[in-house]
Amino acid sequence: MIDLRSDTVTKPTPAMLQAMMTAAVGDDVFHEDPTVQKLENYLAELFGQEAGLFCPSGTMCNQIAMKVHTQPMDEIICDKLSHVYYYETGGYAFNSGCSIRLIDGDRGRITAQQILDNIQADYDWLPVSKLVVVENTCNKGGGAIYAIEELQKISAVCREKGLKLHLDGARMFNALVASQTNAKDYHNLFDSISICLSKGLGAPIGSVLLGDKAFIKRARKVRKAFGGGMRQVGLLAAAGLYALKNNVERLEEDHANAWFLAEELNKLPYVSSVIPPETNIVIFDVASSVNPVDLIAYLEKYGIRVVQFGPKSIRMVTHLDVNREQLEEVVRCMEGF
Ligand SMILES: *Cc1c(COP(=O)(O)O)cnc(C)c1O
Repeated sequence: MIDLRSDTVTKPTPAMLQAMMTAAVGDDVFHEDPTVQKLENYLAELFGQEAGLFCPSGTMCNQIAMKVHTQPMDEIICDKLSHVYYYETGGYAFNSGCSIRLIDGDRGRITAQQILDNIQADYDWLPVSKLVVVENTCNKGGGAIYAIEELQKISAVCREKGLKLHLDGARMFNALVASQTNAKDYHNLFDSISICLSKGLGAPIGSVLLGDKAFIKRARKVRKAFGGGMRQVGLLAAAGLYALKNNVERLEEDHANAWFLAEELNKLPYVSSVIPPETNIVIFDVASSVNPVDLIAYLEKYGIRVVQFGPKSIRMVTHLDVNREQLEEVVRCMEGF
């Protein structure tokens, strides 16, 4: 099986399992799990935030952040392709009672000027613009990376206009590695950050929400209300720490593999366009004569899994459980379709 549906499909390696089995643990609802605290502190320090909060999923991190930053009747500004809009079951409305202002950005990236243009005026009948969410890298934009200069401008605009700024950094490490920037460069830009350990980093579960102490104190309460207070989860945090130590630099391989795939896909007569990958996500369109469902079923017969990502689009994601030889096999197989 060559599973390119997502970078979430990776399995823990024996070394990661070993780290998990030997982790020191305690009841984290009582603040007594040393491994969870180590993970939270490590990421907080790395990204220049005061504190962290280990959560079961990236969705929970984003939902908690939106809940803490807003009141009902507030409005969240984000790109129309954002995960918080597309893939979190409308949780911003369900959990936070907010409306959402969708911006027509470039591959999921919005600009400081677009934010300025979309701040609501102060009338009784309008929602209150309160929070901006940026996604780096943007999944639905084909793993697109923000230029740090734009994030700096966005941060300045949010501060000037009294808006909170949340970074959905599910794949922030892909962005750091591919853009050759350092986590330090992003200090002081965001009010909160969500980092996924279960994507390209290869941990089986876990995300960490970062912010200042007051934010994280409130976030802990919201996490409990959402049912996300966990007990001896140092076992899981240990997988995250292992991933951060061992699986960050190698993301470069995933990016090179995505470039390889894109180059080969471009040569196939039935592929009409490929979004040039910036990290580990390859999204391509098939020609009008081809039904993507047929291509997906054909690949499945050869043990290759991909997902449909739009009426004519298919997504492939590279990760630590697929190597170059396997991708060459994918290409050979696709040539036979
Ligand atoms: C995967 C992902 C999340 C969170 O996903 P979970 O499956 O809930 O961990 C959030 N944002 C982006 C951009 C993602 O790709």
